[in-house]
Amino acid sequence: PGTVTIIGAGQGGFQAAISLRQNGFEGAITLIGDEPGLPYQRPPLSKVYLQDGKAEALYLRPESFFEAKRIDYLPGTRVEAIDRAAQRLTVLRDGAEKSLPYDHLILATGTRNLRPPIEGIAHACDLRTLTDAQRLREKLDQPARIAVIGGGFIGLEFAAVARKLGHEVAVIEAAPRLMARAVSQRMSDHFADLHRGWGTALHLGQPAVAVEPAGVTLADGTGVTADFVLVAAGVRPNVELAEAAGLAIDNGVKTDARLQTSDPAISALGDCASFPDPRGRGHIRLESVQAATDHARLIAKRLAKGDTDPYGALPWFWSDQGACKLQIAGYATPDAAEEEIAAGIVGRFDERGLAAIETIDNARAHMRARKLIASPEPVTRADLEEIAA
Ligand code: FAD
Repeated sequence: PGTVTIIGAGQGGFQAAISLRQNGFEGAITLIGDEPGLPYQRPPLSKVYLQDGKAEALYLRPESFFEAKRIDYLPGTRVEAIDRAAQRLTVLRDGAEKSLPYDHLILATGTRNLRPPIEGIAHACDLRTLTDAQRLREKLDQPARIAVIGGGFIGLEFAAVARKLGHEVAVIEAAPRLMARAVSQRMSDHFADLHRGWGTALHLGQPAVAVEPAGVTLADGTGVTADFVLVAAGVRPNVELAEAAGLAIDNGVKTDARLQTSDPAISALGDCASFPDPRGRGHIRLESVQAATDHARLIAKRLAKGDTDPYGALPWFWSDQGACKLQIAGYATPDAAEEEIAAGIVGRFDERGLAAIETIDNARAHMRARKLIASPEPVTRADLEEIAA
């Protein structure tokens, strides 16, 4: 293709641009993002950035890089429509509409925060963008009582930092356990103990029903006093542009094994993409830096070099909560069975066998787990025991 245009300048969109050049692509690259400023990393927003406030440390590359690599980066620019027949985009920048051409289009639009239908939720804060994190940092300047709606990774990472900074923190989770979508019961229990030990109040199995100036009311009538409320209750993929353009959607923009959408001139990656699991578990959508960047690398190779390899990277993930690092190799659905392999190491199993391994503060075991899950050989008991050795 002569011109590759990328919608979304987050982790995956940025990686696609840089990988295209690394693979020798000589055509024009346009990277369009609706956020202001330079592309940045999101994971530190709920971790170190809340403490040190160093935005410079988040930027993926300095401004000069984009010029040097001939990447036409358009921040503060929102794509409003895709005209697939004409291969053109309608974009909105500084209040003015423009039309931009593409030969190949990459959808890297990510997700947006889900706002559960809770009365008064409009008053709650979000943590998705650098702007959100900057606002939260200002609120953390003064001693505060904070309620966090959502006991997933982001809510818990934020809660751990806020406690460390001396704030009073309560986490409200509708499910009976923490991080229930992503980790085993054992890990949920382990992290519940940790957070309680740090002095955070956990309200599990009770959905929030109202956000008021005085705090949050739970379904059973309990009142949680709070000066401000953070809502971290999951996300929705940004698929509306693709849907309006008539692309296939399946809990994300649906792709084939090469990350091509139902239109061969359009690829999709990262948080917004629903792709075939290389390990045969159907179409999946992952929310991780690993998936976004590995997807981007594969698409770039295909466009620059004509590679036709299917996507096969192993999913992996991490979450830092307080001083504790949780790592996950592989991908398991919430109903996967679990088994403790050794202290702090839990295996997840489904009908296809070993699906994922969770480890705590154990980088070595995590790396071994990645190798084991990636290997095509059937996994034996001895293999599992070796992870902890
Ligand atoms: P994003 O990085 O979300 O980028 C999508 C971009 O597209 C956004 O900037 C969006 O504004 C823009 N966009 C959307 N629609 C349009 C449009 N129409 N026009 C122009 N631009 C548009 N993952 C981990 O693996 N480990 C972690 O520890 C971790 N911690 C996290 C902590 C926080 C606070 C958050 C928010 C996320 C965290 N994640 C973590 C998830 C990780 O950041 C995402 O999986 C990753 O950023 C996905 O990359 P992406 O390129 O698909 O989407």
